[in-house]
Amino acid sequence: MNRFDYVKPQSVAEAVAAAAEPGAAFLAAGTNLLDLMKGGITRPQRLVDVTHLPDLSAIETLPDGGARIGALVKNSDLATDPAFARQYPAVAEALLSGASAQLRNAATVGGNLMQRTRCAYFYDPASACNKRSPGAGCDALGGENHGHAVLGWSDSCIAVHPSDFCVPLAALGAIVEIEGSNGRREVPLTAFHLLPGSTPDKETVLEPGEMIVAVRLPAEAAGFAGHQRYLKVRDRTSYAFAVVSAAAALRMDGGTIGAARLALGGVALKPWRSEAAEAALAGKAPGQAAFAAAAEAAFAEAKPSGDNAYKIDLGKRVVIRALALAAAGTPDRLPALPASPFAPVPEGVLHV
Ligand code: SF4
Repeated sequence: MNRFDYVKPQSVAEAVAAAAEPGAAFLAAGTNLLDLMKGGITRPQRLVDVTHLPDLSAIETLPDGGARIGALVKNSDLATDPAFARQYPAVAEALLSGASAQLRNAATVGGNLMQRTRCAYFYDPASACNKRSPGAGCDALGGENHGHAVLGWSDSCIAVHPSDFCVPLAALGAIVEIEGSNGRREVPLTAFHLLPGSTPDKETVLEPGEMIVAVRLPAEAAGFAGHQRYLKVRDRTSYAFAVVSAAAALRMDGGTIGAARLALGGVALKPWRSEAAEAALAGKAPGQAAFAAAAEAAFAEAKPSGDNAYKIDLGKRVVIRALALAAAGTPDRLPALPASPFAPVPEGVLHV
């Protein structure tokens, strides 16, 4: 049995101090961490229970019109908050696309950012895994890897990040607020998760003891609310991680796309924002030609990491369909029901 300390701090400052000990881990809902501990994949020496910390469970509208979401807000509470879902519908849609209702009722915003890859070899102590044991090798390379990365991977690790929530956050320019022993700092969500390089065990920019206290969405992102969707393709229609997903948001300027936001899930070890695709859309008329050009730009640097070349073609189709759904307009229904890959899309925009 693996012995560990359990502490329950009363403030963020106490939590940060308690987690500065080597081998400490923050515990919120534990929907990923406890599984990892039960499987012997991770063995924290101290659990810092942050579930009852004050002031981390609010969904606030900021004076400038943006939103600030406390790190302990439950996924389901955020998805069903009417004001939030109206302003950031693709975020609500992504949250409702993730996990099961039971898990969404427990899982937190901060925990969603911190969840770890679902690479099967990572969860199997008998397999070689550089992320679990640096220098051990990677059994996914040459193994069962049809779900692995096609962007940003390295010879050390080809895993993907599993979050749905993080994908529209990346597209919409979210900021992560972090508290540590040296005070508070802010990191764009697109810079929060790290690509594997030669150190796949280092997954985020968090230093020991630092904790996420909130995520902010800028007011500017609300300008995309009228044309914003999240589309997820998975091996089965519920309770499965994305094979490929896309968050697409358009700000229309008359009959043309004034600005676009696009990010991908299931393709890399971080939510993958494609500014090249966004640039390909700006100033264009919405339609097949513009969406196909954006899809090509989004996957221009993609390459298979194994038996997964299909993800590149599939990903382009998901981008085109997500953009077509976004162009058609955000559904009135709140909270938005997740977009189905089988739903009809506007006439004339069907295939790559
Ligand atoms: Fe480990 Fe990454 Fe290889 Fe999976 S892909 S076995 S997480 S090193």
